[in-house]
Amino acid sequence: MPHSNQPKQLIDRFGRVVDYVRISITDRCDFRCVYCMSEDMTFLPRTQILSLEEIHLLAQCFTELGVGKIRITGGEPLVRRGAIELLQKIGSLPLLNELVMTTNGSHLEQSAEQLKQANVSRLNISLDTLDAQKFKELTRTGKLNIVLKGIESAIKAGFKGIKINAVILKHRNHHEVVDLVQFAIDKSIDISFIEEMPLGLVDSHNRAVTYYSSDQIRTDLAKQFDLQHINETTAGPSDYYHIQGSAIKVGFISPHSHNFCSTCNRVRLTAEGRLLLCLGNEHSVDLKAAVRNPANTIDDIKKIIIDAMQIKPEKHEFDLNEQPIIMRHMSATGG
Ligand code: SAM
Ligand code: SF4
Repeated sequence: MPHSNQPKQLIDRFGRVVDYVRISITDRCDFRCVYCMSEDMTFLPRTQILSLEEIHLLAQCFTELGVGKIRITGGEPLVRRGAIELLQKIGSLPLLNELVMTTNGSHLEQSAEQLKQANVSRLNISLDTLDAQKFKELTRTGKLNIVLKGIESAIKAGFKGIKINAVILKHRNHHEVVDLVQFAIDKSIDISFIEEMPLGLVDSHNRAVTYYSSDQIRTDLAKQFDLQHINETTAGPSDYYHIQGSAIKVGFISPHSHNFCSTCNRVRLTAEGRLLLCLGNEHSVDLKAAVRNPANTIDDIKKIIIDAMQIKPEKHEFDLNEQPIIMRHMSATGG
């Protein structure tokens, strides 16, 4: 993919340059992960979500404003009909440097090769446990063996990078962190551990009780592995470590214990077309209204996006002991 020399035009009040957009192409999902959704979910009606053409148009606008990296996410992106064709179109945008995707892996066995062909360079695949029964408990509807086959297909397809994302909850899967890292080493893929964020109401656990910090995970891992901190800045919120004697990196995404807002370079486009300026705040601009207004030219839409940077908040504040302030679930946000 060619490198963009496009000037970066998205700059917020704190001087942060936004050159990374995460696009949720659906709020729907075939799983109901306990930290992400409640068991009983109502999803948005089709008319309320952006069409594939609207998503493509907005992706084009972002790249023309200096965005070099787009992550396609959801909900589960691969449950949306036409997702692969959309990825192919976004993957061909001339000014895009990198197209990446986050997936739960349930459709990867069939789709990995097509994603590779669509110019998707890296995949994040969610996997919180290697125990089939626990997997069922955590995802409510998922099957571990299908996701493991999906991971194998992704490895075979030869992406530039594959990373496992694992959300760790105390007493539910915290005792599996060593096994998950060993799995990543065996497969030669990276892994990131994520502290659960209080987004939307969940009905299966109390988030203050299940909180398990990145520091605790590192302490657990240090009993088995030699972790060396890497002073590398990537385009995401992870803090990375090398595991000595292996080729893999272990990342920690720590919204509670190590706030990463000062280097935030990203915004999110929700499935219903809200440009969300911060994961932990509700500041947003309605881009669906902007694209559906026939009076707006592409330049008008780009101006609305540029102006939106002025309301990007400085940081998120999460309090696990309070009811969540942010009522949207991660699936609606686009993780
Ligand atoms: N369905 C896809 C998947 O699960 O990978 C993509 C969307 S999912 C919302 C993106 C990421 O957000 C996943 O890695 C998931 O584990 C993570 N996630 C979901 N809810 C979360 C929460 N409340 N706190 C932290 N991470 C969360
Ligand atoms: Fe679906 Fe991903 Fe949320 Fe799990 S984390 S319910 S797979 S959107």
